[in-house]
Amino acid sequence: MQHIDHIGIAVKDLAISLPLFEKLLNTQCYKTENVVSEEVKTAFFQTGETKIELLESATSDGVISRFIEKKGEGIHHIAFEVSDILSEMARLKKEGFVLLGEAPKEGADNKWVCFLHPKNTNGVLIELCQTRPL
Ligand code: ZN
Repeated sequence: MQHIDHIGIAVKDLAISLPLFEKLLNTQCYKTENVVSEEVKTAFFQTGETKIELLESATSDGVISRFIEKKGEGIHHIAFEVSDILSEMARLKKEGFVLLGEAPKEGADNKWVCFLHPKNTNGVLIELCQTRPL
């Protein structure tokens, strides 16, 4: 695994949190994107090598709404950039980690992504991501 690509933060309302994080980080949001497959609306901020991804649920029963219901707003996942997501998935599976999905999915911000079940990672949802060629 390489550096932390981004930290995902679950928020109730992007319209409130997006300007809040622009003020906090003193940088403009560089991209908003709806990820239909994950039922989320996202907003990205660049902070050095690492990004902040705000996640708002696009539906009332999506993963982000359920997360906020259970735990409240806050850090949802940590994403590590990998150079070869397929070999990294195979390596982690062999080590006994549980992958959420057998194949990488198209994530936000031009990435192939795969999540690891947090039950094997001390309750932290880990995302692997690999930049997709444009
Ligand atoms: Zn993410």
